[in-house]
Amino acid sequence: LETSWPVGVRSQFPLLMANPGVAYLDSAATSQKPQVVLDAVMSYLTSENANAARGTYPWANRTTARIEDTRDRVRRFLHAGDRSGVHFVDGTTAGLRTVALDWLVSFLSDGDEIIVPFADHSANLVPWLDAVALLERQGVRVTVRPMPYDAAHDYDVARLPIGPRTRFIAATHVHHVYGNDMNVHRLRAAAGPDIPICLDAAQSFGHMPISADALDVDFIVFSGHKAMALPGIGAVWAANKRGPVFQPAGWSGSPNTAGIVSLAAAMDWLSSVGLPRISAHIVALGGRLTAGLSALHSYEVLGCQDSLAAGSAVQRRHGIVTFRHREIGSNDLGFILASDGLLVRADGHCQGTEGEKTSSVRVSLHVYNTAEEVDRLLSVLSALD
Ligand code: PMP
Repeated sequence: LETSWPVGVRSQFPLLMANPGVAYLDSAATSQKPQVVLDAVMSYLTSENANAARGTYPWANRTTARIEDTRDRVRRFLHAGDRSGVHFVDGTTAGLRTVALDWLVSFLSDGDEIIVPFADHSANLVPWLDAVALLERQGVRVTVRPMPYDAAHDYDVARLPIGPRTRFIAATHVHHVYGNDMNVHRLRAAAGPDIPICLDAAQSFGHMPISADALDVDFIVFSGHKAMALPGIGAVWAANKRGPVFQPAGWSGSPNTAGIVSLAAAMDWLSSVGLPRISAHIVALGGRLTAGLSALHSYEVLGCQDSLAAGSAVQRRHGIVTFRHREIGSNDLGFILASDGLLVRADGHCQGTEGEKTSSVRVSLHVYNTAEEVDRLLSVLSALD
């Protein structure tokens, strides 16, 4: 059963091992870190820590080489062409801002249109609106159209408001509240071959295989900290066809060397476990949770109802399940669960302007979670039913 295999996986996470009574169910906020990632960082810092592209001595040169090597690994991890650009940033928020303010502003002209998601994470909305506001101050008017989304029915790419002046689409790969995935192939087909698509992969990177070439997107942005690496490191990948989008290697400042080392180790670890297995595991656990919740009367599960339908052929929730109790407030429920060692996210979820108006409880799963943890959560929830 895919829900029960990660015993050997879980034991590689020191914080989880030190807290056997705790079920960490908040991985969409940040993931826990496996020992190999911590070891890689410690080993780097205690053996050859130096700044990059600065020195005439081996530590600095090796640090520079590690950074270039990690860029290659990101390309391979994303199944992307060799000469595509990889630009290290703090995380997804910073990466999306970089695409918006370093690239999009110079790509758009007066009368252009862009399509952006108003129901997704505000990190994937505010930068595009900021870019448009900046252009407007320069007399360049750009129309912003919403990505069609209906919480009950998913993204509706058939209704994509494409026009002759549509010049850019921002999309989210896996929704951080509903857990449903964007069908990027259908999005590309609807958009046609030429409109640049930027994919926010904060909740999919490290959770499922991603092929930049197969998805045929132009930008992929992610955070390392949600995928076993340290906080403060992420990347923007840009397709070859967009040319050299960012300053070569960005050597004008000091890179987050330890973060980059952690990202390389995290990608190695994720690949060794296997992204298809990780994806199958978290989808199976999410399905177990939604099935359990649907048997209880007091809970309303948010998001795409199609994927909840009994016998639904495709489970399209990637390990994120968000719900409300009909009477108990979500914050109270969060505290009740925490007192039982069940660590979830409660309250609002940084959603854009078309997001949920009231708070909810989000459970998000990763490879170290187990079916027993989901069952423990369900038994506490059913006692409140
Ligand atoms: N986009 C999505 C879909 C997210 O889930 C998140 C994190 N919750 C972000 C963007 C922002 O990521 P970060 O905080 O790592 O910059």
